[in-house]
Amino acid sequence: MKITIFGSGYVGLVTGACLAEVGHEVMCVDVDADKVARLSQGDIPIYEPGLETLIHHNLEAGRLHFTDDAKAAVDFGLLQFIAVGTPSDEDGSADLSHVLKVAETIATHMTDYRIIVDKSTVPVGTASKVARTVATTLAERNANLDFDVCSNPEFLKEGAAIEDFSRGARIVIGTDSERVRGVMRECYGPYNRQRDKLMFMGVRSAELTKYAANAMLATKISFINEIANLAERLGADIEEVRHGIGSDPRIGYHFIYPGCGYGGSCFPKDVKALAHTAKAAGYPAEMIHAVERVNERQKNRLFEMLCQAFNGELAGKTIALWGLAFKPETDDMREAPSRALMEALWAAGARVQAHDPEAAEECRRLYGERDDLTLTDQRDAALEGAHALVICTEWKAFRTVDFDDLRERLLEPVIVDGRNLFSPHSAQQAGLTYYAIGRGASV
Ligand code: NAD
Repeated sequence: MKITIFGSGYVGLVTGACLAEVGHEVMCVDVDADKVARLSQGDIPIYEPGLETLIHHNLEAGRLHFTDDAKAAVDFGLLQFIAVGTPSDEDGSADLSHVLKVAETIATHMTDYRIIVDKSTVPVGTASKVARTVATTLAERNANLDFDVCSNPEFLKEGAAIEDFSRGARIVIGTDSERVRGVMRECYGPYNRQRDKLMFMGVRSAELTKYAANAMLATKISFINEIANLAERLGADIEEVRHGIGSDPRIGYHFIYPGCGYGGSCFPKDVKALAHTAKAAGYPAEMIHAVERVNERQKNRLFEMLCQAFNGELAGKTIALWGLAFKPETDDMREAPSRALMEALWAAGARVQAHDPEAAEECRRLYGERDDLTLTDQRDAALEGAHALVICTEWKAFRTVDFDDLRERLLEPVIVDGRNLFSPHSAQQAGLTYYAIGRGASV
């Protein structure tokens, strides 16, 4: 089957590589010519475990192609996936300009029936907007061509994207067309062998499913953070509470890890967009707003703890940061808690010495060269001359430490652990002042 994918970011690349891997012929198209040139040479601009190998394998097999030639891309596939960004607009709504631009591009070049598949995360009603854009552009060309638009939201997680795409819990497809159902069944057939994961539903339900899933996960995170803050004040330990509630199968252990707030390219913008959708529909979505407010507050917790440790005197201090990415196994720093912390520290006149196994390049791209930021290749190098250590991301490489060694390297024995990696008791025994999230009983 021939498939075109617009957008070669996290979602487009993973979708393209995984569909090529099972034998489809895939053309990935992007407006960023530089990115296309790099990808065509097998140079992958993002870090995602397993992706490089998969892309190399399929480039060599001749099943995966990269181009910036929109006409060639529209000619190529019966299926035209849209996997471009949908960032937050100023009012919190999803900016659909890239999605609608692709719809226009497809309509400008198509000469035959095409199925347009919305894989980007888009608000309810977007498939209709895409269809209107295509119809208008075709009418301007006086072209009388058939097309369908369906919704196929993506649920992959960065850091485990290939595994999620290949073995995800479900494949949601919103369409009311029998023809589209058949083609999508063929497209995903190789990933649908063990059990039937294809869930066909109405287009609007599919669009809302994606937002509901992300809002639910964000809610779990904000909920546990709310309880963690309460635990701190009440002298309870959130890690004990987490075990206590997670053991109930109705609650479960997933996504109830307390921390320094959710980040990334999806949860913050999707929660905002859902709130905006609710407002536009005249519905006051109380919970969605609360989820967002709790998260904003949580992202500030690490800075508050440092202020507490140093009596608010952070000017001239050097703070070591372990972890810049918004979560492990990715180099993505979009809306990462580390950014809120670094920016607050700089505003307070402190210096940052940071280490991340993958995100240093991205950090340099975001902040450039500055006197109050040093990026180190090794985690221990970040500790040299630092007054305190803050852990922002739970990379595996940070989970084992020698507390005596840490105490000797730091100018002041202060650790602020935004991911609850260590035993407060052991840290304190080693003479460290240890701040963690919601561990009131032991801190
Ligand atoms: P991204 O920013 O990494 O990549 C988007 C790509 O689209 C860029 O390379 C950009 O150059 C390209 N692009 C923009 N306009 C284009 C056009 N007109 N034609 C061709 N290419 C164009 O984005 P992403 O993280 O892959 O996310 C894409 C969508 O998928 C978003 O709606 C996002 O919410 C959703 N999503 C993301 C994830 C994730 O974990 N990143 C997971 C599920 C869903």
